[in-house]
Amino acid sequence: MHIAIIGSGTMGSGIAQVAATANCKVKLYDTKKEALEKASNSLDKILNRLIEKGRIDEVEKKRIQGNISYVESLQDLHDADLTIEAIVENLQVKQNVFQELEGIQKKDAIMASNTSSLSIASIASCLKNPERCIGIHFFNPAPLMPLVEIIPAVQTSVKVFNQVFSIIQSWDKVAVKAKDTPGFIVNRVARPFYGEALRIYEEGFEGLPEGEKGFATIDWAMKSIGKFRMGPFELMDFIGNDVNYTVTETVFTAFYFDPRYKPSFTQKRYAEAGYLGRKSGRGYYNYA
Ligand code: NAD
Repeated sequence: MHIAIIGSGTMGSGIAQVAATANCKVKLYDTKKEALEKASNSLDKILNRLIEKGRIDEVEKKRIQGNISYVESLQDLHDADLTIEAIVENLQVKQNVFQELEGIQKKDAIMASNTSSLSIASIASCLKNPERCIGIHFFNPAPLMPLVEIIPAVQTSVKVFNQVFSIIQSWDKVAVKAKDTPGFIVNRVARPFYGEALRIYEEGFEGLPEGEKGFATIDWAMKSIGKFRMGPFELMDFIGNDVNYTVTETVFTAFYFDPRYKPSFTQKRYAEAGYLGRKSGRGYYNYA
């Protein structure tokens, strides 16, 4: 099966690894050459780590790497059976890419978006054949997180939904059908986890150790008492403050400005400052 991945950032590179491991022929496309190089280098490191842990051998590494080609033109994606788009969380930009792709690919090629919060119906609406469009929402890091939400839009055909559901299962993932509502299942339920943590920080609290702004204390409480694997600030740094903020803003707007989902100025300023988290070396914590 030929898979095209658009966007070789955090999600696209991980999804490419998943599909390549499942023995699909993957073409990974990005508008930035550096992003493709970064994806290729980081896959090499990830696979080397798996070798060190004894989880795969050199032959398996070569097989996975051999299944991925890095392409710099959208035209190269002409032969894909399934395309998964993982670019910037912006409806107009995503629609532009899908429309261009429709002119390049065969009529029954499936086009999927990994969007965290945009409506699949609105992405599909830009296509002449919207029944081929669907949401396939992986979680970060895609190779490690078992759950994948499959989101049919009102336009999506049952055939496409069934095909995608079995493809994702064949990639050794747990597929769950989700409704095309803002944030689907997980991102909607998770909004208060981030939002309330940011509100506690913004309200301020007494008695913090010298130099501690509150992020570490909240994270510590959620991990040691709440038994979460990561605290909210660690998780926002891991996801990326830009990505996480945009998702909150979209969910807030899509739910008619329901105050439960109100975005935080702290997070907005961090994202504007380039304090994106792990990927930029600085977020709520310093990774430099
Ligand atoms: P990212 O910023 O890490 O990567 C996006 C990549 O897309 C970049 O390499 C960029 O150069 C490329 N790009 C931008 N515009 C493009 C275009 N027009 N054509 C081709 N490439 C283009 O972003 P990400 O975190 O991987 O998120 C991608 C998508 O996945 C978003 O819709 C996001 O909401 C969703 N998502 C993110 C996470 C997460 O935890 N980061 C989890 C699930 C879903």
